[in-house]
Amino acid sequence: MGCRGREPQSALLRFVADPGQELRLDSERRLPGRGAYLHARSECVEQALKRRSLGRALKTRLGPAADGVVLVALASLDQARGEGEGAAP
Ligand SMILES: [Zn+2]
Repeated sequence: MGCRGREPQSALLRFVADPGQELRLDSERRLPGRGAYLHARSECVEQALKRRSLGRALKTRLGPAADGVVLVALASLDQARGEGEGAAP
């Protein structure tokens, strides 16, 4: 979204806005409604936050917690990757 990089589908995070206009990570990609996709890379996430592109993509005014939701999603993904690289449990 907004960046020119090409990533496989698996590297995309899907977000939806719930009825309370709060952003939610759709990790199963099953939540109904309009979704916004973001590359699971810190550069892309930071750009999206700076440009408010998630709110625009979802056509909603996201609450103040939205940025945190995105950052937590990215952090948990980074963590999952780290565990796959032979780090001690
Ligand atoms: Zn990107």
